[in-house]
Amino acid sequence: MALDTETLNLLIDAVRRFVHERLIPAEDELAASGEVPPDIVKEMRDLGLFGLSISPDYGGLGLTMEEEVRVVFELGQTSPAFRSLAGTNIGIGSQAIVLAGTDEQRANYLPKLASGELIGSFALTEPDAGSDAMSLRVSAERDGDCYVLNGTKRYITNAPIAGLFSVMARTAPERRANSISCFLVEAGAPGLIIGKPDKKMGQAGALTSDVVFDNCRVPASALLGGEEGNGFRTSMRVLDKGRLHISALCVGIADRLLRDAVQYANERKQFGQPIAEFQLIQAMIADSQAELYAARCMVLDAARMRDRGENTTMQAACCKLFSTEMVGRVADRAVQIHGGAGYMSEYAVERFYRDVRLFRIFEGTSQIQQLVIARETIKAHS
Ligand SMILES: Cc1cc2nc3c(=O)[nH]c(=O)nc-3n(C[C@H](O)[C@H](O)[C@H](O)COP(=O)(O)OP(=O)(O)OC[C@H]3O[C@@H](n4cnc5c(N)ncnc54)[C@H](O)[C@@H]3O)c2cc1C
Repeated sequence: MALDTETLNLLIDAVRRFVHERLIPAEDELAASGEVPPDIVKEMRDLGLFGLSISPDYGGLGLTMEEEVRVVFELGQTSPAFRSLAGTNIGIGSQAIVLAGTDEQRANYLPKLASGELIGSFALTEPDAGSDAMSLRVSAERDGDCYVLNGTKRYITNAPIAGLFSVMARTAPERRANSISCFLVEAGAPGLIIGKPDKKMGQAGALTSDVVFDNCRVPASALLGGEEGNGFRTSMRVLDKGRLHISALCVGIADRLLRDAVQYANERKQFGQPIAEFQLIQAMIADSQAELYAARCMVLDAARMRDRGENTTMQAACCKLFSTEMVGRVADRAVQIHGGAGYMSEYAVERFYRDVRLFRIFEGTSQIQQLVIARETIKAHS
């Protein structure tokens, strides 16, 4: 159920204040240390950011998709690594359980994910199975009242700090969707090995690593929904929501970048006048604003469709494709407007330029979004 307007506005105001007063001033510290400071994690938990859209039955705020994206527009105003920590818990880190968990699995894990006591992680990608996720090889074999998992997952967000992994594993050899099942694997399970944090281009503080299963034994009750064969379809549904969330984040970041670029253009003088007065600079500002506005409208429209219970696979892919490419162009122009300063790490645009490159790659590359959009469109018109 949607929040009343006043409550939603209060929440958005509180998040906006938190972002401006606490997160933006901590961006440099995060970039240098690669760790979200513990006092900020606590404040994020107190604000309810780990459980924004998890049902109030499980301790979350129960936001609709439209409400969630409006909050994420605010969270996008700062380094995306802050969002990555809490956003994974309401997105890919919890959605498999929300969509397909048993009552017991929901009751067991969702309250801890909603409060941030437990960090969630979603493990689909493998060294030889990225865009072609259906070719994944991590296996799960039934052994009495347990399953035994073997194989390696790669680039798994939050793995070094996660308490719970939604792991897609093969329970039948054939290449088809219902050969893949999802397991809820707790940190500390015997045979679960977490790799060293990956060294990345950007998003310092948003940790990823390998997750290795070496005869990792989990109870049969770890099988999501108590049923084999629903893992691949559940993953695709999880990503439908995740893609809208990431699109909203790109809208927020583009807004921040445009603000930084305009502020710089007003301050920086060349040829005796602020560079904001040059029409070629204005063209970059105008193109960025127009694309940002289009992305914002798309994301809100798709979020409302999802709230009405409509299938948004195509719309989520359109939003992900357009918003992630859009924020890349906006970041590039923001660097250009800053001139040489935009290449220096003391300016936030340099960091954001590297941070946003990821969005065109994870949760389905731009090419995969194009394939999804084309497939759904051809299906609809055939
Ligand atoms: C920082 C980071 C965090 C991540 N977090 C997670 C996570 O939490 N959980 C998780 O499971 N995964 C995660 N990933 C993995 C991510 O989802 C994959 O990297 C992504 O899906 C692409 O897979 P790949 O890297 O194997 O590239 P590949 O699939 O090898 O793609 C290489 C290139 O080929 C293109 N390509 C592939 N297939 C086609 C095709 N059919 N047609 C046209 N072009 C194609 C791609 O678009 C890309 O340009 C993360 C990745 C990164 C970098």
